[in-house]
Amino acid sequence: MKEFFCGAVVPDCTARFRGESEEAILAQVAQHAHDDHGMEHVPDAVINEVRAQIQDVE
Ligand SMILES: [Zn+2]
Repeated sequence: MKEFFCGAVVPDCTARFRGESEEAILAQVAQHAHDDHGMEHVPDAVINEVRAQIQDVE
């Protein structure tokens, strides 16, 4: 299981996501970025930052 805290990239955001793979998390993050951060499209630079911050959890 992997986990990502949006606050690692977007200060003050408390959203967190869990998934079986990076792709599963990135899909949730893309939806969240659109709905809650008003991002029509998540830039590659942000995706790379998200990937770097994804943690392995039990
Ligand atoms: Zn967020």
